[in-house]
Amino acid sequence: GFKNEMISVIDLTPSYDWFQTDSLITIVIYTKQKDMNAELVIVDCQDKRLRGEIIVDDHSYLVEVDLDHAVQEDVAVNIAEKVGKVEIILKKKDNIHWKMLGQALESHNTFIKRTERGLFYRKCKLVSKTEVTHDTKLLCLMLPRSTHLCVPIGQHVYLKQTIAEVVKPYTPVLPFLPLDFKEPPRHDGAHLYLMIKIYSCGLFTQALDHLQIGDYISVSNPEGSFKKSQVQTSEDLFLLAAGTGFTPMVKLLNFALTEVGCLRTVRLIFFNKTEDDILWRNQLEQLALKDERFEVQFILSQPTKDWVGKQGKISSPLLSEFVKRSRKDSKVLICICGPTPFTEQGVQYLKDLGYSQEEIHTFTA
Ligand code: FAD
Ligand code: NAD
Repeated sequence: GFKNEMISVIDLTPSYDWFQTDSLITIVIYTKQKDMNAELVIVDCQDKRLRGEIIVDDHSYLVEVDLDHAVQEDVAVNIAEKVGKVEIILKKKDNIHWKMLGQALESHNTFIKRTERGLFYRKCKLVSKTEVTHDTKLLCLMLPRSTHLCVPIGQHVYLKQTIAEVVKPYTPVLPFLPLDFKEPPRHDGAHLYLMIKIYSCGLFTQALDHLQIGDYISVSNPEGSFKKSQVQTSEDLFLLAAGTGFTPMVKLLNFALTEVGCLRTVRLIFFNKTEDDILWRNQLEQLALKDERFEVQFILSQPTKDWVGKQGKISSPLLSEFVKRSRKDSKVLICICGPTPFTEQGVQYLKDLGYSQEEIHTFTA
């Protein structure tokens, strides 16, 4: 009785504290979570405005203050993962003693449902733009030095242009598909890579295409329902991608081949209109040669006469041919992404083939 009562009054709301030295301000957030990691901490410091968000399951804790004095641009974030302690370290512009951290802003020290916390945007600089195919480009955006943000696998961000109020979601990819899986790719927190198809009548992508190197675009906090744990225990992974629906598969593929020990097969079934539309074909073929667990199948809906590969759209016969358990009771995960009708049809065919809802993940906004 007594023990249980003690436990029931423990408050799991995160809290914060701060202290200073001559040159530094350290804000410490006690998340009260054992499994903190870099993806759960989003920090921005613009001018004198500090915003530190901690994701705790479906909740969000926020430290948001108008700092007492100016700080330098570079912000350090230290995460004690096991203890759940997060330190945000700011460098004072002037070595003076601060009487207080600053003025609390509206949402300061609140712990609310993530869905109730509006998206926060920071301006990122376009640093490069390279062609992937005739209509798709790889954009590299640089986060401000004062931003700490990692987009988790399978999640997307919203882009907002200063001219129009419209925002659209995009899924960050890697700069290329690493072929050497001996070690996970070096974590580069400063850049975001986006693979974006430019549509000739596209409202947002036309404006995006007109951005020049050095221009700024606003990038939101990440969103999305994919959980790494879904793939961590799978033995067979099937990725069904259509067109730019390939983007969430990039990090997922890399993660699966690098860090999922029990994985036996990874098969990408990639649907496109024509050969010229296939994104990173060469890299995918290289990867299939290099890693025997990985296989790629290209399926074209509008091939030219000389295409000797598979053709058609997503269908039940096609899925029954390519989506098969490697063993009778293999744990499978099937991920689908593409135009909405593609995704909806795919899910229906998979269910007809006997796959359960838990074995299927669809990427949506
Ligand atoms: P719009 O002006 O909306 O239209 C673009 C073209 O498509 C036009 O030619 C229009 O005629 C046609 N069109 C519009 N709606 C439909 C429809 N429902 N069916 C058929 N045709 C239609 N795109 C990427 O390139 N890369 C990504 O990484 C990426 N990630 C995404 C992640 C999520 C979660 C979601 C939901 C979408 C993602 N998209 C991605 C798509 C992206 O958000 C935009 O929809 C896309 O860039 C088109 O925007 P737009 O304003 O240029 O086009
Ligand atoms: P696309 O028009 O080039 O088509 C690629 C292939 O998709 C086609 O060859 C065909 O096999 C299939 N397809 C297209 N329309 C279909 C339909 N009505 N029914 C069945 N199959 C169909 O594709 P795109 O222009 O690259 O568009 C990619 C789509 O993926 C966009 O709608 C985009 O919003 C979506 N997307 C979603 C996410 C997400 O996370 N939800 C991420 C990236 C892209």
